[in-house]
Amino acid sequence: MTPLAELHLHLDGSLRMNTVRELAERMGKQVPPELLFRPGMGLAEALSKFAFTLSLLQQPAEVKRVAAEICEDALKSGVSVLEVRFAPQLHAGANVAEIVDAALEGIAGRAGLILCGLYGEDPKVLQGHVELARTRKGVVAIDLAGGPSASQPFRLDDYAAPFLKAKELGMGRTVHASEGRSPEEIRVAVEQLHAQRIGHGTTLLEDRSVLDLVLERGVTIEACPTSNVHTGVFKEVNDHPLPRWLSLGVRATICADNTLLSNVSTAEEHLRASQIPGMTPALMARAIANGHAGSYLSLRERGEVDA
Ligand SMILES: [Zn+2]
Repeated sequence: MTPLAELHLHLDGSLRMNTVRELAERMGKQVPPELLFRPGMGLAEALSKFAFTLSLLQQPAEVKRVAAEICEDALKSGVSVLEVRFAPQLHAGANVAEIVDAALEGIAGRAGLILCGLYGEDPKVLQGHVELARTRKGVVAIDLAGGPSASQPFRLDDYAAPFLKAKELGMGRTVHASEGRSPEEIRVAVEQLHAQRIGHGTTLLEDRSVLDLVLERGVTIEACPTSNVHTGVFKEVNDHPLPRWLSLGVRATICADNTLLSNVSTAEEHLRASQIPGMTPALMARAIANGHAGSYLSLRERGEVDA
């Protein structure tokens, strides 16, 4: 089988169920009966599901363990190029640098690490991640994760400064954008945040000029079909526009997002994607190749991180 690339995987949503049970027991916590995502639950409720897994991962030791297990599991899922992401500021058991170092130790060179800022959070947090990443080669990129809401004090373009700094330093940039929301977010992410990759981007085809921008800049779209069904963007995986994207020349790749919470492995996500009406073996091969080409390590090798 062709080795897969997995570019969009959240550490705090991709624990092994056995590890969740073990850590919960050790910490005297009850595993919630409805721990996992379910179809159509919406983004806000999906995001709330991270509270429990995060509560198990406050200390560096658990971060390190889970990072290592994710690398092992990805390998078993046929993944040869892996990037893992998380928001270290949500792990309060040590300072951000210690939490990041714990993740890097667990990864042990088997994956690139992406540091996430969060929608609504002061952009200074992300600025801090960029500064930290300068001295840690294993950190390949920054991301903006979560989702926007009207009550938040910051808008997407308020995060331009840390993203610009990341660009100047040759660091990768990806943004969770247009996850069932306006395609305009993709434009802001690409034009103002200099994102080379977009997480989700489900509404891409709603605006021809945004599609043209993505094609022109060669932006990679990290498609997460099962996750999109859980957040209610699509009714079923088969509704995902992935085959149309690929046919139009969009550099889309297939990602699991959260292997635990969505109860899906990278291999399983590829199988589901291959069954979307309109998908062909050639388009699948292209999606996999897009993943390899869009990884930050390969962008770095090709000198395209600054693009
Ligand atoms: Zn995500």
